[in-house]
Amino acid sequence: MNHPEPTPSPSAASLNFLEEIVEADLRSGKHRSILTRFPPEPNGYLHIGHAKSICLNFGLAQQYGGKTNLRFDDTNPATEDVEYVDSIQADIRWLGFEWEGEPKYASDYFQQLYDWAVYYIKTGRAYVDDSSKEEIARMRGIPTEPGIESPYRTRSAEENLELFEQMKAGAFPEGSRVLRAKLDMASPNMHLRDPIMYRIKYARHHRTGDQWCIYPTYDWAHGQSDAIEGITHSVCTLEFEVHRPLYEWFLDQLPPFDPRPRQIEFARLNLSYTVMSKRRLLQLVNERYVSGWDDPRMPTISGLRRRGYTPEAIRAFADRIGVARRENVIDLALLEFSIREDLNKRAPRVMAVLDPVRLVLTTYPEGETEWLEIENNPEQPETGSRQVPFTRELWIERDDFMEQPPKGYFRLSPGAEVRLKGAYIIRCDEVIRDAEGRIAELRCSHDPHSRSGADTSGKKVKGTIHWVSAAQALTVEVRLYDRLFLDPDPAGSKDVDFRTLLNPDSLRVLGQVYVEPSLAEAQAMDTFQFIRKGYFCADPDSSPERLVFNQTVTLKDDWAKANR
Ligand code: ATP
Ligand code: MG
Repeated sequence: MNHPEPTPSPSAASLNFLEEIVEADLRSGKHRSILTRFPPEPNGYLHIGHAKSICLNFGLAQQYGGKTNLRFDDTNPATEDVEYVDSIQADIRWLGFEWEGEPKYASDYFQQLYDWAVYYIKTGRAYVDDSSKEEIARMRGIPTEPGIESPYRTRSAEENLELFEQMKAGAFPEGSRVLRAKLDMASPNMHLRDPIMYRIKYARHHRTGDQWCIYPTYDWAHGQSDAIEGITHSVCTLEFEVHRPLYEWFLDQLPPFDPRPRQIEFARLNLSYTVMSKRRLLQLVNERYVSGWDDPRMPTISGLRRRGYTPEAIRAFADRIGVARRENVIDLALLEFSIREDLNKRAPRVMAVLDPVRLVLTTYPEGETEWLEIENNPEQPETGSRQVPFTRELWIERDDFMEQPPKGYFRLSPGAEVRLKGAYIIRCDEVIRDAEGRIAELRCSHDPHSRSGADTSGKKVKGTIHWVSAAQALTVEVRLYDRLFLDPDPAGSKDVDFRTLLNPDSLRVLGQVYVEPSLAEAQAMDTFQFIRKGYFCADPDSSPERLVFNQTVTLKDDWAKANR
């Protein structure tokens, strides 16, 4: 996917604000090439919001012949794990992107950051504060009034240095001291009120082990990490806009960097009916509301993948939503539209009966099997056709028959005719019920002159229904999914626990679904359109003995309809 040459966008009018900045920087000669980065914290699996950020950062670099670093922001050992490091790399690659060189880690820079902190101390720009967390918060105050300077703020450089070294050596308990930047306790920007640079934490780090017991804060590590790597454009979400003056100040105190990273903010992706915070997603996993990070109902990349989403669909979605500077909420239906559009082009069509009722063709010879030729995908004629067996006993969908059909019902009903997809026109002659009065079987007759492709019957029927031959049908499991939450904004209220807004019917398992025998070879992650039913994808739980399919998305397109 790497473009060797910078490819300027087609027309300046269609550039987004990020592209405008990059183009201007290349034109003015400020940068000869650009370097972006994707900086995940390895404390959870990536989700669709990260996918947007990945597409943006890698996409921007590709577009202008630049490169992108992957940097793990691993400054908080308590919540981080190699499991996440591995899954993040797998997910980025699956999306179709490759980072420059080896993955990088903020922890690679722990020593450099420490050395700079020492320099800050020596030059009177940082001090060790013995105040408690609560005292620090209290003295920081409120934005409209100046805060209170800590009594430890005036410590000498020598004393600060000694204390900081002792902090590093493990002489003090966790939480007893921090290193703070000496900046401005009266600033209206709370982030400039002597922000914390280091805290004591006796936690084993997944990379540095027990080497450190003081860890840099995200604020102290982030901008410097970008500068060390020579990032030209640090693209991040809007909540960091207020941190920007701090990041600038931190860099201003150090010898000049060339290039010096420029931070540019964009609005994070919010999706309706979805929670995106890793803390909440972790809660869903740990409390077993879902089967894992890759549960097909999760908005994680691994969940979407298992659900049957393709990288192309996710990239098209990211493209379609674009970048904005203003907070907004994207309709989940737009994500569904993107996968539907992609699968419509590529998914082979097959027949599956999800809620079966038996249909017997009394006019069709017993023991006979005809192999009918049915096209694989009308959107892709070059994919050809396959042979589907047709016999006297078939399965059809229960709701494709109505005993008392309303006007305009063109499927099967007593005395009415309908076409069986790729096969014959049939008429329903008799309804057989079981002891409970439920329809057990439909007795029908077929017109032998009406075979698809060789129809000389002269009949016109309005409905076509799908079917599966009972003798050759495979019995499979199908998992139907609905939105994980009932509320469009499940994380929207502080007073309502998002877990109470879960949709109790988000997963429905159908144990007895009949599919045509061509599916016997289906491999995990193979995608199909079950005609008239939706797109489905073979689950990794599938085995040749027991095929399992996940519903990716229905055929019904809410988004295009609403936006026509
Ligand atoms: P948390 O949910 O734990 O606060 P986070 O979502 O910020 O974490 P990070 O691992 O820090 O997760 O994110 C990595 C990158 O992905 C950041 O640059 C962040 O800006 C971006 N990102 C995270 N969530 C979204 C989102 N919803 N939309 C766009 N970008 C996002
Ligand atoms: Mg974050």
